[in-house]
Amino acid sequence: PSPSGALAAPEGFPLLAHEAAGEGGLVYLDSAATTQKPACVLEAVDAFYRTNNANPHRGAHRLGGAATEALEAARRDVARFVGADADEVAFTSGTTCALNQLAYGLAGLLRPGDEVAVSLLEHHSNLVPWLTVAKLAGAKVRYLVPDRQGRVPDGEIDRAVGSRTRIVAVSHVSNVLGCVQPVERIVRAAHDAGALVVLDCAQSVAHLPVDLHALGADFAAFSGHKMYGPMGTGALYARRGAASALGPLLRGGGMVEAVFEQGFTFKGFPAVLEAGTPNAAGAVGMAAAARFLEALGMEAVHAHGEALARRMAAGLAAMPSARLYGPGPDGAEERCGIVAFNVRGVGADLAARALDRRNVAVRAGAHCAQPLVRHLGAEAVCRASTGVYTSERDVDRSLGAVEAARQDAANLMTSAML
Ligand code: PMP
Repeated sequence: PSPSGALAAPEGFPLLAHEAAGEGGLVYLDSAATTQKPACVLEAVDAFYRTNNANPHRGAHRLGGAATEALEAARRDVARFVGADADEVAFTSGTTCALNQLAYGLAGLLRPGDEVAVSLLEHHSNLVPWLTVAKLAGAKVRYLVPDRQGRVPDGEIDRAVGSRTRIVAVSHVSNVLGCVQPVERIVRAAHDAGALVVLDCAQSVAHLPVDLHALGADFAAFSGHKMYGPMGTGALYARRGAASALGPLLRGGGMVEAVFEQGFTFKGFPAVLEAGTPNAAGAVGMAAAARFLEALGMEAVHAHGEALARRMAAGLAAMPSARLYGPGPDGAEERCGIVAFNVRGVGADLAARALDRRNVAVRAGAHCAQPLVRHLGAEAVCRASTGVYTSERDVDRSLGAVEAARQDAANLMTSAML
């Protein structure tokens, strides 16, 4: 732990070390969009290119072997990190890529009248692919509607998952509200109905201990860059036994067993989903990030994010000018380091810009979750999201900036009236 109260010293993240000079240094509260990278991740990527660079799985030469071993070691690390076995994990370019591979790969299961159940909290990446394949198949997308805290209640699961449901695709943790969905309950209901379950773990893997075997999901998707790894990396998990239901979306080199003039045969999972040259350096960096988080301990990471979110939510709830969305500061429900809010009478974009002038980085908008933000009765919201480098002092500075943003808006109104 760092003296500032962060779980991992910000000085270990070169960008933060560079930005944090002086009193008013950067407070980065946009980790749900992408996290900053620790030096160990940057060094792992650099070392791959300096010492192991060759095309994995292709060359008979020594370096080809080293690159293959680096990629497969990375697969073992990433799999262990989410409670899976290495042969259940395919590398992808991120969550969006994995979810598209899943939607198109499972589309053959859908018949007219079948249903795909998603929640109203989904990121567009776990919505648009299902809307697309459902339409192509004549199937319907049904929604699990969350309560005011952003959690899908049991009654909703029973209402929306039934005999017509073929696939249930839900996010583990909302990227807007930070609330944790009852995924064990959802998996049980889906399996009782004979449906497959896809989990969008893009946020959860950075915030919670995730054990995919224990959760029982059939498939899962997550990104390296949201868990302190490089951009352009991610993984698709397929439970052993479920992988055979999944056809490939991308076709080409590396995923075929034999190719003839008029046909071809596929390799098994995970190779069948890894057509083309993999981002091996990225995978190595993602594995370094997984080891970095394991060393911190995911229980500690979760407790840290939860405490910061409660502090932020409590500060906002005490401000008459702020409107908080999702879980309140004292709620018993499990949550992660993500807090959504608005400043009354100030557009989310203007509020975020006012925070930016005070060197506090938050994101404003619909956060690629338009149906949810509409359901919240807003057009846009501000989102503060923490990382392992975030401290209580950062949260307090951002609360001060929210108060100042409201004051800016009031001053602007007064000067307009004069
Ligand atoms: N799902 C969720 C819950 C997310 O937060 C994100 C990223 N904002 C995605 C999917 C898409 O991830 P990526 O952009 O890394 O593909």
